Amino acid sequence: MSTQHAAGRYAPSPSGDLHVGNLRTAVLAWLFARTTGRRFLIRMENLDRAVDGADRRQLDDLAALGLDWEEPVVYQTDRRAIYAGIIDELRSAGRTFECFCTRREILEAPSAPHAPQGAYPGTCRDLTDAQRAEKIAAGRPPAVRIRAETSEFTVTDLLHGSYTGMVDDFVIQRNDGTPAYNLAVVVDDAAQGVDQVVRGDDLLSSAPRQAYLATLLGETPPTYAHVPMVLNPEHVRLSKRDGAVTLADLAARGVSSERVLAHIARSLGLAAPGEVADLPTLAERFDPAALPRTPWILHPGEWD
Ligand code: GLU
Repeated sequence: MSTQHAAGRYAPSPSGDLHVGNLRTAVLAWLFARTTGRRFLIRMENLDRAVDGADRRQLDDLAALGLDWEEPVVYQTDRRAIYAGIIDELRSAGRTFECFCTRREILEAPSAPHAPQGAYPGTCRDLTDAQRAEKIAAGRPPAVRIRAETSEFTVTDLLHGSYTGMVDDFVIQRNDGTPAYNLAVVVDDAAQGVDQVVRGDDLLSSAPRQAYLATLLGETPPTYAHVPMVLNPEHVRLSKRDGAVTLADLAARGVSSERVLAHIARSLGLAAPGEVADLPTLAERFDPAALPRTPWILHPGEWD
């Protein structure tokens, strides 16, 4: 267990510029951490989907909104040896198995009795050595899955309360050797002393798996706050396709980062329409209990 002082964090994937939805989540992560006396950390989840230079632009954008964080920014690609060590430990402890299934085989397999919808069907859980050797000889590289000993786990979420969700034999190392997000996020949060995880509520259903893995590693799961997403007028999760949604796009339309923060603050009920308030002021007003529980629908006319 880490002895470091408690921390919150924002953990973007540097796959492009942050859009207003990402920025709003980052602002919330900062507010939750800073108003509870926590350190605030940034971690670049760049094991896949990284675009050259996107990390720098993301940090610049976060700083432009007024966020500050404790250095150094951690890059997951610098921690591959640590993930490999943990995967080895889990393997030696009999907590894993190799899985040769393709995505299609998983979808087409009959599900195990009593297994929740969408759970790994258990195909490779009990392969014999001979069966495993045969698959390896056929040239299929295996992924590594956790041998879960429960089918559900309960987490505590500051917005969703006590949330129970599915745990299955999830992948901790992909078949190309890359540590899976669900492994890296747990290892890193524990190593960095993160005890408060604020992120988009699209990840709420992943939290039980991650918290369960934390307990397998002897860690106390963090407290979560899964915050509502930002959606476009069609109620689809905001993306770059929605036009001017990054600080750079908006700056090109004459919208300053102060105004972007002002809109985010208003959407959170922390500022009046048009009021420009800096982050310390928003922190004074911040009350998790009063946060909106529904998505923010962002209309293109928002910035006019
Ligand atoms: N890197 C993930 C994302 O950008 C977030 C992971 C997390 O906060 O746990 O969606």
